[in-house]
Amino acid sequence: VLKPFDRQLQYCAFCPKLCRCACPVSNVEARETVTPQQKMQTLHLLHRGQLEWSRDLTAVLYACAACRACYSYCKHPVDVGPALLAGRAAAVAQGVGHPLLVDFDFTFRYRLPKLHAAARATLPKERFADEAEVAYYPGCEAVANAPADVIRTLEVLDRLGADYLRLFDGPELCAGYPLWAAGYPDAFRAHAERVARAFARYRKIVCGCPACVHALRHRFPEVGVRLETEIIDLTEFLEGFVGRLPVKRQIPELFFHDPCYLGRFGGNFDGPRRVLDALTPRRYEFSRNRGDSVCCGGGGLLPRTAPDTAAAMAEARLGEVVEAGVTMVATPCPTCKRRLGGAAARLTERGEAAPIEVLDLIDVLERATR
Ligand code: SF4
Ligand code: SF4
Repeated sequence: VLKPFDRQLQYCAFCPKLCRCACPVSNVEARETVTPQQKMQTLHLLHRGQLEWSRDLTAVLYACAACRACYSYCKHPVDVGPALLAGRAAAVAQGVGHPLLVDFDFTFRYRLPKLHAAARATLPKERFADEAEVAYYPGCEAVANAPADVIRTLEVLDRLGADYLRLFDGPELCAGYPLWAAGYPDAFRAHAERVARAFARYRKIVCGCPACVHALRHRFPEVGVRLETEIIDLTEFLEGFVGRLPVKRQIPELFFHDPCYLGRFGGNFDGPRRVLDALTPRRYEFSRNRGDSVCCGGGGLLPRTAPDTAAAMAEARLGEVVEAGVTMVATPCPTCKRRLGGAAARLTERGEAAPIEVLDLIDVLERATR
């Protein structure tokens, strides 16, 4: 699994750490061993057999949010995140994967029917369809943790006249990003085949999760799985309504946070800004924005393998919002919304910030069109 990354590993191994300042993990942990260059150098030496595979050494492979911030700073260019995820697959094959991700392929598959049952119990039954022209696929994060957000999305889509969207029906409610990130490529390929079969019942799928969209568009073809179904990110779908949104009131002001998988990986920086600019007269940018945006800590399974680091990343991201005295952040990703929302609540609880609302585009649209 590491052969395709030979050249990239060599570049990093001999690099004077040109991307060091970009990595949110090493910035919050303040540890040299988790800078992108050091993680890649460790993997390089393991791959060459100059270090022995052990849990102590492979631990650094999991200190990565696969956020691609370092890629923006690299002149070569090296994509560290996917290389480290391939390193995780090699670690699993060597029997020294992360202790919290042992048998992850099994637990992932076991969870899906339960998630489907939960979706069937909490979401509007009449919206589910076995087959449809266009279906909405919320992604597992929203189904598991925020079913109310899925219901709100359907209501807003109705308000926009897109009431023809049905809900995807089936246990394949996750596109498999976690399997890729955990280092289980065979299970990811098998899951991708199941997803492709399930998706074939729909002509178009509007997907609410940018990480799912990335997996479907870019990681599926890598493992030889081609989808016949057209995949549209929810943000792209909403962009189609700009100029005819039934706006009733403007939202006074908000910060916009670029999700890594919509922006850096998906190249969609302007779309969400276009939607928001129709809803608010004051959209503030973080000082690190667009290709230089800072991850909320939700990627690469970091909340599972390094929860304190993931939490600190989200809190650090909100520093500028607190300083500016703004009380709303918008982001078009269910994971960013949850991670930043949790951080905002903790900051307020500790008396370090006034309450900050973290909303997705649908929430902002819902308020502006109410
Ligand atoms: S990703 Fe690029 S800049 Fe960063 S350590 Fe590797 S070669 Fe250097
Ligand atoms: S992908 Fe993100 S978290 Fe991983 S090494 Fe690069 S900057 Fe750090």
